[in-house]
Parts: sequence; structure tokens; C-alpha cells
Amino acid sequence: MARPIRQQLNWLFRIIRACVPPALRDAPNVSIRAENLAVTCLLGLTVIPSYGFFYLALDDPESAHCCFFAFGGVATAMLVLRLTGAIAVARDLLAGSIFLLLLALIYRTGGVASPSIIWLAVCPLLATAAGGPRIGLVWTGTVLAAVAGTYAGDIRKLFPAPVVNDFDLLSFVSTASFIMLIAVFLLIYERLNAAAIARLDQALDVIHSFAIHDELTGLLNRREVLRVAEQEKERADRHGVPLSLCIFDIDHFKSINDTWGHSAGDGVLRHMAECIHGEVRKSDCFGRYGGEEFLLVLVGADGQGARDFVERVRQSVEAMELAGLDGRRVTVSAGVAENAAGETIAQVLARADASLYRAKHAGRNRVELETTSATAPTSPAYGLPAR
Ligand code: GH3
Ligand code: MG
Ligand code: MG
Repeated sequence: MARPIRQQLNWLFRIIRACVPPALRDAPNVSIRAENLAVTCLLGLTVIPSYGFFYLALDDPESAHCCFFAFGGVATAMLVLRLTGAIAVARDLLAGSIFLLLLALIYRTGGVASPSIIWLAVCPLLATAAGGPRIGLVWTGTVLAAVAGTYAGDIRKLFPAPVVNDFDLLSFVSTASFIMLIAVFLLIYERLNAAAIARLDQALDVIHSFAIHDELTGLLNRREVLRVAEQEKERADRHGVPLSLCIFDIDHFKSINDTWGHSAGDGVLRHMAECIHGEVRKSDCFGRYGGEEFLLVLVGADGQGARDFVERVRQSVEAMELAGLDGRRVTVSAGVAENAAGETIAQVLARADASLYRAKHAGRNRVELETTSATAPTSPAYGLPAR
């Protein structure tokens, strides 16, 4: 089966990337400009000498020499880009070489009626691709001024009549190759833009992942778990389905830090997160709520069901063996509250917090379910969620 043209051109995109110095490849906005510049240089290095040989065939060696001279300018631009990464210098060298070449050809082959004059449009195009709209506008103005000057200056009085022996053929080849070049430009730029956007998307994914996860445990962080809790509450209220929240708090965690040090405490937090996360269903949402507190959003669970489930989790935590704590078991207390329509998420959390407070006061290592609703206090004594 024929491969799409984009895939067939993969070898070309590899060459284009190789023309960009490694230092410019990381930031997508810089690498796309550099790659655009490399593409234009490669096209120039291919098209300009072809034209040189074409002019030789048309018996116009002076125009051919102009082409070979401009080829040197474009090759220099390519070297500057690859060796120094100076995009602006390479861009102006490239655009300047092409601009001067075209001016020379225009003056040699008919002034404002020259078939080469339309090629001046390439200068603002490549300047925009390699430098952005501002530099593109500068080149548009320069090119327009050159066209107007060519018209007003009546160049044919200064230069002899066109010297090529087949002017029609020159016009045809010039126009046809201009159209083809623009098509190739667009295809390659579109492909490079798509690749840059894909890289930006990847970078955004990484940033998003950092923004929603807790660094120590890898769980969802407080902001994200609260966002999901709020979203699930809205859904539960709309569809009239149950939802429960549970706050876990490690018992006497401070004494673990005090006895075995903070890095041992961090290890306990990680193991605890892993243990509880391993127990919860995929549809539930579990995250780090605070220092040694975790929040579990139990989707579709009423208070009693949630309590029973959390009790099983508590037992798993109690059974967990942790290295480096001299055989000490770590336990958790948990407060559960079922959602009630008409409450805010902060109120449900406050009730879960109040039941956690009861679990702590009743001796720790236990689960308490808060049954009262709406009238619950909005500022419980134990670890009020900051909102
Ligand atoms: P309780 O049973 O009443 O919950 O007692 P506790 O010691 O667990 O609670 P307390 O609030 O007195 O202490 C919590 C400790 O958690 C204090 C703080 O230094 C520690 N902590 C919070 N975040 C981290 C963390 O990221 N790493 C470590 N190692 N310790 C943390
Ligand atoms: Mg606590
Ligand atoms: Mg604690």
C-alpha cells in the first residue's frame, strides 16, 4: 500500500532536523523557526544552482554567475545556522542573497516585466517562516519598494534588452517552478508545524502532570483531588446517586519522624499511599490531602458502604509491614461522610473531618462515619480544608 506523502518525506525531515544545531532543538518555538530556515536553505541550495544551469542553457552566463554567487550566500547562511545557531543572522543572509539575486535577474531580464519579479514574494515568505510576522512585514515592505522602484526607474533604459535567447521558455519555467516551489514550501512547513505542535502538546502533558500530582507520593495532589471531588459531587447531585468522602490520617506520624528521621517518614508516606491506592477502585479518586492526610472520593458509595470499604483498607494498612521501623506497625484513622444534596463540598469535607476527629479521640486506628448533614459545622476543629 502506498505510504502517505508525509511518511515518504521522512528522510527529508531527518535531514532538516540534522541541519538545526542540538542547542536549538528543545524549545519548540525556536526549533520551528530554525527548521523553517533550514528548509528554505535546502530549497535554495537545490533551486538556485538549477536555475544557474538553466541560464547557461539559455546562453546567459552572467545571470548564471549571479545564481552561483547567490548559492554561495545561501550555503553560508546554512553554515551559520548549523555552526552558530544564530537564526537571525542566517535568516538575513539567506533573504539578502535571494533578494540581491532576484534584483540582478530582474534587471537583466526585463525590469518590471521580468519573469523573475514574482519570485521576490519568496523573501517575505521565508522571512516570516524563519523570523515571525514582524520581520515578514519588513521584507514585504522591502520587496514592494523594490518592485515599485523597478517600475518607476524604467530599468530598461539603464540595462540592455533581455539577453536570453528564449524569453517565452524563461517565463514558462520561472512561473511553473515558482508554483511548484510554493507548493513544496507549504507541504514542508505544514509538516514541520504539525511536528512542533505535537512537541508542544507533549510539553503541556508533562506540565499538566506536574501540576496535578504530588511529588513525594505520586498521588493526585490536594488541588486536583478537591477538583475531582467537586466535579463528582455535582454529578452525584444531578443524577441523585450516592457519593462519599473519606479523610485518612496517619496515627502518631510525628513520632515516626522524631524517632527514625524525616526520610523514614517520607518512606512511610509513600508506602501508605501505595497501600491505600492499591485497594481503591479505578472509578474512585484518591489523593494526598495534606502532610500525612489522604482524601478518598468514593463514587457511587453510600455512607455505610463507604465505611465498610474503608474499614477493609484500614485493616490492610494495619497489616502492612514496613522495613526500617524496628517492627513498628503504622495505622490510620479515617473519617467518612456521605454527600448530601444542597451542601457544598466544603461542608461534606467538614463532616468527614469531624468524624476523623472522633476516630482520633476514640483511640485512633479506626473508621468513623458522620451521619448528620446540612447542619454540620463549617469549621471543624480538626484540620479544616483550606479553600
Ligand atoms: P495524630 O495521630 O493525632 O494524627 O498525630 P500525628 O503525629 O500524626 O499528627 P501531627 O499533626 O501532630 O503531626 C503530623 C506530622 O506530619 C508533622 C509533620 O512534620 C509531618 N509531616 C507532614 N508532611 C510531611 C512530609 O511530607 N514528610 C514527612 N516526613 N513528614 C511530614
Ligand atoms: Mg494530620
Ligand atoms: Mg496524623
